[in-house]
Amino acid sequence: ISILAIESSCDETSAAVIVDGKVLSNIIANQTVHEQYGGVVPELASRAHQENIVPVVDLALRKSGVRKEDLSAIAFTQSPGLIGSLLVGSCFAKSMALALNIPLIGIHHMQAHVLANFIDDPKPAFPFLCLTVSGGHTQIVLCESPLNMKVIGETLDDAAGEAFDKSAKLLGLPYPGGPLVDKYAKEGDPHKYRFPEPQIPGLNFSFSGLKTAILYFLQENKAKQADFVDVHLKDICASIQHRIITILMNKLVKASKETGIKEVCVAGGVSANSGLRNALQEYGAKHGWNVYIPAFQYCTDNAGMIAMAAHYKYLAGAFSPLDTIPSARAAFE
Ligand code: ATP
Ligand code: MG
Ligand code: FE
Repeated sequence: ISILAIESSCDETSAAVIVDGKVLSNIIANQTVHEQYGGVVPELASRAHQENIVPVVDLALRKSGVRKEDLSAIAFTQSPGLIGSLLVGSCFAKSMALALNIPLIGIHHMQAHVLANFIDDPKPAFPFLCLTVSGGHTQIVLCESPLNMKVIGETLDDAAGEAFDKSAKLLGLPYPGGPLVDKYAKEGDPHKYRFPEPQIPGLNFSFSGLKTAILYFLQENKAKQADFVDVHLKDICASIQHRIITILMNKLVKASKETGIKEVCVAGGVSANSGLRNALQEYGAKHGWNVYIPAFQYCTDNAGMIAMAAHYKYLAGAFSPLDTIPSARAAFE
């Protein structure tokens, strides 16, 4: 089974080839045009996808050594995401499936983030829990089989990635700020400043209060000392990151206790965060979990994870008709 997968839900244009469950290539074109706007501009994202998609697909095929005539199916991200961006990938995938007369497979982006944990060994055993932390989502997913997963906790407002990016913006750091907060946090004291932990019932999350707390904290301190941020940047970043991580980890511990599941994965762009990766190992050791973390290239948006999900859907015969349409929002399948 050889599948070409295309990811275009946000601002990464990516293509991957998977053969019998093994990802042979995963090409990612990042869009830099958004940096100057401090966030992703949807109209510019779709245009950049349009420019990138042919060379990215071409390179993914060449690198895998698979000829397009030998493909068994074409997969694409169907939802959720920016509609204009999704349309570029879905139209391309449909055209290619039609031209090659092979099946089409639509993939749910957040389910694919979870399945990124199956790209490399060791793979988690079912059932497992996955903390999916990305730019648009924060979820605890209970996964019973590759195609059977449910969200048992999620954010009521901002996503963890947004919490990082919005905090970074308040500190005057460029977009996306998550990786920069991570970088400065490495040299800072995580216990220097105390930010509040919201009391949210059940397994849900909330990050908007943290953002407000940081805003007031900075206003107050800058009023007393104009160069407060410059002088204390590393400690501020470390303290913010520490709070985001403890909010995530406390709910994950709760989810593991409630379900009795000790197979624990992480997925999504924020799982690239070094503090979160360390915390997972620490909590894992303490609570007797088996912890799984995807390689960096499979944490942020990539077609490798779309290909992995497509492999399972192909095995299940779960194909999409050619008149299928992408959608900006969609619940789990
Ligand atoms: P979604 O999957 O919810 O649609 P997305 O695909 O845009 O959102 P990803 O690409 O998975 O999200 O992740 C991007 C997010 O990850 C950004 O918010 C970015 O700041 C954050 N991020 C990436 N690296 C790090 C890091 N090292 N530390 C903290 N955050 C990070
Ligand atoms: Mg992105
Ligand atoms: Fe994503």
